[in-house]
Amino acid sequence: MSRPAILTVDDDPGVSRSVARDLRRRYAEQCRILRAESGEQALEALRELKLRGEPVAVLLADYRMPQMSGIEFLEAAMDLFPQARRVLLTAYADTDAAIRAINVVDLDYYLLKPWNPPEEKLYPVIDEQLAAWQSAPERPVTDIRVVGHRWSAPSYQVRDFLARNSVPYRWYQVDDEEGRRLLEAAGVDGGTLPVLITGDGEALVAPTEAELASRVGLSTTPAGDFYDLVVVGGGPAGLGAAVYGASEGLRTVLVEQLATGGQAGQSSRIENYLGFPDGVSGAQLTDRARRQAVRFGAEVLTTREVVSLEQRGSAHAVRFADGAELATHAVILATGVAYRTLGAPGLADLTGRGVYYGSAATEATACAGSDVYIVGGANSAGQAAVFFARQARTVHLLVRAPTLQLSMSHYLIEQLAGIENIQVHTCTEVVAGAGDGHLERLTLRHTNSGESWEVPAQWLFVFIGAAPRTDWLPADLARDPRGFVLTGPDLRGRPKGWPLDRDPYHLETSVPGVFAAGDVRAESVKRVASAVGDGAMAVTLVHRYLEVL
Ligand SMILES: Cc1cc2nc3c(=O)[nH]c(=O)nc-3n(C[C@H](O)[C@H](O)[C@H](O)COP(=O)(O)OP(=O)(O)OC[C@H]3O[C@@H](n4cnc5c(N)ncnc54)[C@H](O)[C@@H]3O)c2cc1C
Repeated sequence: MSRPAILTVDDDPGVSRSVARDLRRRYAEQCRILRAESGEQALEALRELKLRGEPVAVLLADYRMPQMSGIEFLEAAMDLFPQARRVLLTAYADTDAAIRAINVVDLDYYLLKPWNPPEEKLYPVIDEQLAAWQSAPERPVTDIRVVGHRWSAPSYQVRDFLARNSVPYRWYQVDDEEGRRLLEAAGVDGGTLPVLITGDGEALVAPTEAELASRVGLSTTPAGDFYDLVVVGGGPAGLGAAVYGASEGLRTVLVEQLATGGQAGQSSRIENYLGFPDGVSGAQLTDRARRQAVRFGAEVLTTREVVSLEQRGSAHAVRFADGAELATHAVILATGVAYRTLGAPGLADLTGRGVYYGSAATEATACAGSDVYIVGGANSAGQAAVFFARQARTVHLLVRAPTLQLSMSHYLIEQLAGIENIQVHTCTEVVAGAGDGHLERLTLRHTNSGESWEVPAQWLFVFIGAAPRTDWLPADLARDPRGFVLTGPDLRGRPKGWPLDRDPYHLETSVPGVFAAGDVRAESVKRVASAVGDGAMAVTLVHRYLEVL
């Protein structure tokens, strides 16, 4: 492969030359350094590189340029090189614009001028961006194509898995000409869907999640068999624990049953997480956290479900669904919660065929111009309504309670009120769903009057609360009546059979050395920030536990 390019663009020729000179001094051997003096000129260079099939690793653009601003340039460049790392060069006065750009163009970094001395200010940033870009080739760029049926649950699952793991792919419907052509070229008849075609032309028919994970370069097998810390669950709490554990020198492995990100990974926009004044998508936030954990040396395994936990002397054995085992000194349970499903007749058979639990970002474009129904009165439902309103004709938010005030944040209620194509229906519940192969109709009922009526509907997204996933834990690991794990003070003293001469630490469960963090913990605050905080605090307590082991 030819050397990847670092392209820098600045309308001031002096600045442009001097950035390029500094970059050449350090990166000339490993990268081609290209420079341009306007956004248009830089885009022209990128088009040429695209045509020649040459890679681009980093784009470094000045914010203030007369015809096309740095943000506009980076936005256009994303269409050509979506994997290239995007860095904005700004003056201190433009910091706000740079922060806004984090969301517009998924900016990876903003660098303040002047960048001297480059050893301190420029090179560490570019080193980090190159490392992040280099870890991406294990994921084939946009070479993955998926051919499936729009209303098929297995097709949806494959697309959802790829999206949650931030793996780019192209989607073709089997009844489109291009979809048929691809199946023919791959030599498969399309009787079983979906078919995933890899970059080197191999066709995988109805692949399992584990097959998908290994094909797209996600790690599924642990490198060792004994660790200081096993973190179960890859949501914000688990990722927080993995970042802190690995950065503080613990041999750490995180085990996630599906894709890292957890519930937060499904949030279209998290607006209340510290440090992101304009919000951040859950996928962006958790993808960064995953990379950060890996950079510190944590192993991150996906598509591996933990099904049992056993104490063996002073160690713990963690068993996977396929029977494989890991041993560890300490465990952090960060398994969060899973969505409850709606029991209304007819909906179970339509799951993945118009009925979805949690936000199905993959479906957003398919909803364009349609009516979308969302069930739920909490923030997650409100966020989804705002998200789908951008594409849908009308979003109907169905809420059983008479008001949103008690269940949704004030800022979201105000946002909903300000969006014309969102209609909030309070005192309304779904009592049935029907359709031939996919959702076609919903029956709704007014909870006060009892009156029911039918509406045509193709899309239903459900956010109705969640339950912890703890039934696989050993019987002596104490939980509250709803299944949430009890820790520290909530255990109210030393649990029966507790073998140590001290009380359980704050986030420690009734089994010494097993900690709980995030939503799975009884009495936890169900928020991203508190989950991350729990993960960090649990690691501190793991250190304390290991000191006297
Ligand atoms: C749509 C939506 C929007 C939200 N918006 C916000 C917001 O704006 N602000 C905010 O602060 N909070 C928000 N929340 C809440 C927030 O996302 C959660 O509080 C947070 O994700 C909890 O993190 P966690 O790591 O404890 O659990 P989770 O995020 O639930 O992650 C748990 C992980 O563990 C994995 N897992 C479970 N069991 C096993 C097993 N046996 N083996 C291996 N892996 C397992 C799961 O697959 C999952 O990935 C939102 C939630 C949703 C659903």
